[in-house]
Amino acid sequence: MIRAHSIRHKFLFILMLMTIISTSVTGIVLVYYESINANVYHQDKLKLISSVLSPSLTAAVVFGDTTTVDELINPTVNTEGVIAAFVYDENDNFLSRSFKDNNDLIPLNDLEKLVTPLVMEGNKAGSLVLYSDNSVVKSKNDFYKRFVSQILIAIFITSFICAWLLSRYITKPLSKLIAVADKVTTSNNYAIRTEKTTTDEIGDLTDCFNSMLETIQYRDSMLESKVIARTRELEIANRKLHHQANEDALSGLPNRRSLLTKLKTLTEEQSAFCLLFIDLDGFKAVNDSLGHDYGDILLKSVSERLIHCVRKNDFVARLGGDEFTIILKDITAKSRINGICDDILTSLSESFSIKNKDVFITGSVGITLYPEDSTSVENLVNNADQAMYESKQQGKNCYSYFNQDVRNRLAERRVLVDELKGALIRQEFEIHYQPILSLRTESICKAEALIRWRHPTKGLLFPNDFLSTMEEEGLMDELGYWIASQATSDAMYWMNSFSESVQVSINISPSQFCENYGKLRQWLDNLIADKVDTKQIVIEITEHSFMENSTHASKILEDMRALGIEIAVDDFGVGYSSFSYLQQLDLDILKIDKSFVSNLTTKGNGFKLCKAIIGVAHQLGLTVIAEGIETNEQKRMLIRAGCDLGQGYLFSKPIPVSLFEQQFLTSNASEQANVITSQPQKTK
Ligand code: C2E
Ligand code: MG
Ligand code: MG
Repeated sequence: MIRAHSIRHKFLFILMLMTIISTSVTGIVLVYYESINANVYHQDKLKLISSVLSPSLTAAVVFGDTTTVDELINPTVNTEGVIAAFVYDENDNFLSRSFKDNNDLIPLNDLEKLVTPLVMEGNKAGSLVLYSDNSVVKSKNDFYKRFVSQILIAIFITSFICAWLLSRYITKPLSKLIAVADKVTTSNNYAIRTEKTTTDEIGDLTDCFNSMLETIQYRDSMLESKVIARTRELEIANRKLHHQANEDALSGLPNRRSLLTKLKTLTEEQSAFCLLFIDLDGFKAVNDSLGHDYGDILLKSVSERLIHCVRKNDFVARLGGDEFTIILKDITAKSRINGICDDILTSLSESFSIKNKDVFITGSVGITLYPEDSTSVENLVNNADQAMYESKQQGKNCYSYFNQDVRNRLAERRVLVDELKGALIRQEFEIHYQPILSLRTESICKAEALIRWRHPTKGLLFPNDFLSTMEEEGLMDELGYWIASQATSDAMYWMNSFSESVQVSINISPSQFCENYGKLRQWLDNLIADKVDTKQIVIEITEHSFMENSTHASKILEDMRALGIEIAVDDFGVGYSSFSYLQQLDLDILKIDKSFVSNLTTKGNGFKLCKAIIGVAHQLGLTVIAEGIETNEQKRMLIRAGCDLGQGYLFSKPIPVSLFEQQFLTSNASEQANVITSQPQKTK
């Protein structure tokens, strides 16, 4: 590798610089010294000539022998460096002269002059003047300069070669190291080693470099194995995360997120499919009555059954709670879908054996088709959900396809919900009362409070028109509180204003029996605070209340009973009509459902069944009320069966409170008007 500023170049440069400086200084000093020496030598030579000539010249000058003088000085000018020789007498008068090559035109002013006095016995006899130039010195100097220059060049070349060899010797192992380091860097191969060629510091450096590579190689392999292990851990964690993100932990089925991804893929592929939305009917009751353990096992068993109902490559997912979805790929023929839905419903309605207990549920299924119903994933899920809701409305345990009617019904429902919320705010609800009478004496003893909605445009609406929606939308707690408070207030007013003591019977929805009592607690607290005579209050509950919220319902009913409120079980004869509930709960009244009463004929078993129920209820110490008595015949048969009380159109339809007071309550206001001034006032 060629580097502009390599150590080798630097080394070479420094060595050469030192050589140049040292040899130059030496050369200059030498030349200078030699030039001074040449000068001195030249002067000495002239002085010697003068001193040699002096005695003879002095004699010749004293005797005025110019010929001898000439003879003496003529050879002098042949001497190297002597240009002219002049001789003067004792008075410095010119006697003789001699020029080199007889050239008397040479200007003497520029020349060096050596004056030697000619002395005879201590007296000046004359003088000898020698003129010389520095040609001798100059030629000597030139010679030395040439000589020194050649020596310098020789030294320079020799030094360069030596320095080059030396630098090569020093930098070669370094270059090797650099080459190996480069190779290691580019190849990432730490197994490469460099050869040790010297035992000096560079050899030590090679050793250090090799041992450094060894350490790195070791660390590298350690790191590599750690990275491999970590990567494996990460892969496992990643897989787990993916599972957690896409799988339902309880059932092991794909979850909502996974369903949405699947639907997105299918819609992108534009392959036809059918989406089923399944919601379990009665799951909440199982969870509440038997506990979450049973609920979890039930959900797992449901998952397995659903998988068995479809093909292997169909997609079964759990959305959460008791909601499941199934994607049936490439199936859009309704006959096939119907077959699969029938299988699902049959499979779900078969008993589940959980911890030696038989548990029963059913399923409501909603169906939507791609691309017929929609091409958007969000719409498809909504469609299937709406269709499932339709199945619930149809009475559960069935399947419904999404269509325009379903959409319209849902839109209507949304309008209804908004209106109901407004009705609560605007107080559009009112209570109608239906009297409950002694069947024998026909004297009034109770009145059932039944809710009505005075709709601003549709007129008077009945519970069937709106109550289930209120329940489903979670509005029942609010309305139930108002009904209970209003009915209590009415009962207190009757007690204080009329001669008859009439109990008010208040229907409580299953949804009102929630974990934290909801507003029921507030109503009970008000009763205590207002010191209400709770003997005047009966609450009517259905078997559903226990089925759906058995734990909370039992606790709340206990509290109510402790306050002195009577409890009636409503609509007995429909649903499960389980006598076990009558045993389990501390009840006061049993209300036989009107469907039972309408079956009361002289022929058939209706009468016998009714009589048996009344007999059992009496055995349990319960008062029996028959609902929906429309004919005298029914009334007579109920009396014969031993029924205590009754209500029905035969006596009166449910009527507004003012009419009820007018028709059934005999006012003692005249007697009490002045007495009861501090009694609670009727609130409307
Ligand atoms: P329910 O508690 O069994 O009330 C008796 C229902 O039977 C009332 O219907 C009443 O009008 C009707 N009925 C009474 N006698 C006869 C009869 O001789 N023939 C016929 N065909 N029907 C008769 P309504 O008022 O429509 O109430 C229906 C249901 O709505 C009630 O059944 C009750 O479950 C519920 N409900 C009514 N008011 C309330 C309320 O304030 N709160 C709650 N939670 N539920 C209520
Ligand atoms: Mg009732
Ligand atoms: Mg009833």
